[in-house]
Amino acid sequence: MTETATVIETDILIIGAGPVGMTLALALMQGGSPQRILLLDQNPRGSYTKDPRALALSHGTRQLLETLDAWHMNAGTAIHDIHISQAGGFGRTVITREEQCVEALGYVMRYRDLASALDARLNENLILDASTVLATRMERNGALVTLLRQGVEMQIRTQLIVHAEGAPTESADIRTFDYHQHAVLAEVRPQPAHQQRAWERFTADGPLALLPLGADYSVVFTVPPEKADALMAMDDRAFLGALQQQFGSRLRFTHTSPRAHFPLKLRLRRELCAEREVWIGNAAQTLHPVSGQGFNLGIRDAWELANALLSGDSADPGDAHTLQAYAQHRRIDRTGSAAFTDGIVRVFSNDFTPLRIARGLGLLALDLCPPARKFVAGRMIWGAREI
Ligand SMILES: Cc1cc2nc3c(=O)[nH]c(=O)nc-3n(C[C@H](O)[C@H](O)[C@H](O)COP(=O)(O)OP(=O)(O)OC[C@H]3O[C@@H](n4cnc5c(N)ncnc54)[C@H](O)[C@@H]3O)c2cc1C
Repeated sequence: MTETATVIETDILIIGAGPVGMTLALALMQGGSPQRILLLDQNPRGSYTKDPRALALSHGTRQLLETLDAWHMNAGTAIHDIHISQAGGFGRTVITREEQCVEALGYVMRYRDLASALDARLNENLILDASTVLATRMERNGALVTLLRQGVEMQIRTQLIVHAEGAPTESADIRTFDYHQHAVLAEVRPQPAHQQRAWERFTADGPLALLPLGADYSVVFTVPPEKADALMAMDDRAFLGALQQQFGSRLRFTHTSPRAHFPLKLRLRRELCAEREVWIGNAAQTLHPVSGQGFNLGIRDAWELANALLSGDSADPGDAHTLQAYAQHRRIDRTGSAAFTDGIVRVFSNDFTPLRIARGLGLLALDLCPPARKFVAGRMIWGAREI
């Protein structure tokens, strides 16, 4: 390799300035970390404004964001109750904020509003945007990362690399399961108004979620890939008709935004850390969006890693014991969240009659049994803390 002009020295390099990477940087700074921190992203800063997702955020996530002064007060729509049912079968239940004694079961916020609130708290010099990592080499006391930025090769010497670059490509380190489902996203106007109610409707194609967002519903319409292509190709009227058919007649949908779609796979990294490297957020585990666990889990990764680095015995952030202790500490939360989400998708996404009856009985039991409802609600409101 030719000699490069610039070598940047840092202590913690976070690759991926998405919401999880930014949360980690903020939590470290707020915790008074003596380490130098640098965030690197392949995209220009602010690219998140084009992201079409809306996320259901748990009450616990709101509390963490508030602690970081990064809760976007005006952008979140509170969920007051959640109606859960299955198409073509009996059984349904409603989880309410009154029963769970909380102000809201969760909040719905656009990804771009979440990201911009975090970004606004970060110093401009902290992020190296539009940068592509070309190579990483481990050295005796650190790692050397070579990258390309605006046609110029640069190097970063760091003691720890945190991978927060979102869903990984397939590799031997990742366990992947393809759900053969795509999420088609849109924002639609309901009639009558939603009154802060979210709907989770399980259909043979996959789950259909309606999340209150401003005056609209953010729709996550999960279907097999070929149906997703058809939904994407429809004009607005036909799309609203297809949505109406899948949802039923309890509400009418009158307008829709343009649509976007995401293929859905479960991706679980086997080991959370390696020599001077650690993985968090979607880079560590990418889940099906059905129960809105992904970012809520990712923010807990960032929070716990910041705590581990701030309270670790070693001054070296790449210390193997600190990283291994972090990985061990995250095991129950990540495997529990992945199993919970994966279980829901597998049990609910089919039209097998005995399973439909079992599902109906399950929903009925949930409806009749407050402690079971409290367990499900706890996952949504707090994440693993409830468990
Ligand atoms: C349809 C859908 C609905 C969802 N709904 C919910 C929900 O309701 N609730 C919830 O909690 N979660 C939800 N999720 C999951 C949630 O979006 C993710 O868990 C969350 O975005 C993960 O954040 P992250 O920062 O880890 O990764 P990302 O948001 O993917 O950010 C990764 C960042 O890394 C950058 N990057 C990528 N590759 C590189 C590279 N090679 N080098 C440098 N930078 C790189 C990207 O530009 C980006 O800025 C949903 C996901 C989908 C697809």
